[in-house]
Amino acid sequence: MSYDKIMELASRKSLFYQASEIYPNSPAGFWDFGPIGASIRRKIIEVWRKELVQKEDMLEIHGAQILPKQVYEGSGHLTDFKDPIVQCLKCKKYERADQLITKILKKEVPEATPLEKLNELIKNNNIKCDKCKGELSEVKHFSLMVESIIGRGELKTFLRPEACQSIFLNFVRMHKTMRLKLPQGIAQVGGAFRNEISPRQSITRAIEFTQMEAEVFFNPKEINEIGNWDEIKDYELKILRLNSKKVENIKAKELVSKKIVQGKLIAYYLARTQQLFDKLGIPLDKMRFREVDKDERAFYSLLTFDFEVETSLGWLELVANNYRTDYDIKRHQEYSKTKLEYTFEDGKKLIPYIWEISAGVDRTLYTVLECSLKNGKEGDYLALNPIIAPYQVAIFPLVKKDQLPELAKKIDKDLKNKWTETFYDEAASVGRRYARADEIGIPYAVTIDHQSLRDNTVTLRYRDTGKQIRIKIEDIHPTLISLIWCQKELSDFGKFIN
Ligand SMILES: [Zn+2]
Repeated sequence: MSYDKIMELASRKSLFYQASEIYPNSPAGFWDFGPIGASIRRKIIEVWRKELVQKEDMLEIHGAQILPKQVYEGSGHLTDFKDPIVQCLKCKKYERADQLITKILKKEVPEATPLEKLNELIKNNNIKCDKCKGELSEVKHFSLMVESIIGRGELKTFLRPEACQSIFLNFVRMHKTMRLKLPQGIAQVGGAFRNEISPRQSITRAIEFTQMEAEVFFNPKEINEIGNWDEIKDYELKILRLNSKKVENIKAKELVSKKIVQGKLIAYYLARTQQLFDKLGIPLDKMRFREVDKDERAFYSLLTFDFEVETSLGWLELVANNYRTDYDIKRHQEYSKTKLEYTFEDGKKLIPYIWEISAGVDRTLYTVLECSLKNGKEGDYLALNPIIAPYQVAIFPLVKKDQLPELAKKIDKDLKNKWTETFYDEAASVGRRYARADEIGIPYAVTIDHQSLRDNTVTLRYRDTGKQIRIKIEDIHPTLISLIWCQKELSDFGKFIN
């Protein structure tokens, strides 16, 4: 299964691995990322930043991760952010009640099902612990908030459960100091923490994770006034409607005309989200926006489309797209007793509405890895889009003698000086080195051979085809720029030599 292959690669190449692994009994649900994993991860964030934040002129902020209790009273998380859990009275194992019932009855039981109903389902279906068949406790609610202690603990504080709270708290400041005008997105990348009772499936369900969040503030009366509408109105989205089993291709304009969404602004950002993941290399036929039923939606959302990708773990939610309305700003205004209104030029005031695009970085990383995993002649490799590859080019002297390493190191240094991310390797046969570079998704490899000494040319090889061309040393950098950033192909720069 692809999951096992990715986990094997992750472990062998240190893409990611259990945090504090050298200490026994370190808690599950925390992950460290090695150089290759961290590099791909950083580039995924960079693509999000370029494709969404910059193209949509959003303001990107960086907020604190620990916030006082009052913030979460305001946001509603202290009372509403919880999972229904059940304990086995015999083996003492905890499990999410909704998930256990779903697993046993093979029928989807929404997370938001009331406790009485969950207890009833367990009793009527005689559901027992799936590990030891022991009796189960009553279903109880378990808060997902991770408490933190600062100072002497006089002030109760929590790690934020979603990065966006900082954005809501910053809204009026941005309005006043950054001349924010509606509609306006504010974005942030950062850590978030959820006290999952059973963290599992590696980085896809961890306690500490990273989110790329964009919150678009707008006037609900202007939900259909979208400047770039023409760019996406005919773009087809992959939509799974409520109570439907089939993903349909629906154009952005039809989402609006058929009243599947409340307005153009929502259809626009759903389209931009799908385009972003297309760019990251997720195949269109593996993605869908799943319309989420009221029972399953987050407590603040009026409309939710979960952007999901089909993986070997099932459909994985990568982005929650939520219509949060004016819930957040209204609540923070009420609880902080601070005016958080938007002021129009004519002096009129408004609590803005919010469309949220909340993407998980770690799940995206996992999904991108799984979708890129290909089987080639030399073994498995990662067919990553070059824009998110851990290194842009590998530099190999053909042999470790005859002045070839000296020339290769000089080329390597020149490329680094031009901000190219290189991976220098002179150990083992060149075939082995190609396979090692392919395995971690390096798209191009430059090999310096004896001919290089005579005529200042090198070979340039593309990972996915193994095809090579010969180019001048001075052309390596501009050729890579064209290949990586301008979607050119190797054949645009010379004849294949193999
Ligand atoms: Zn048990």
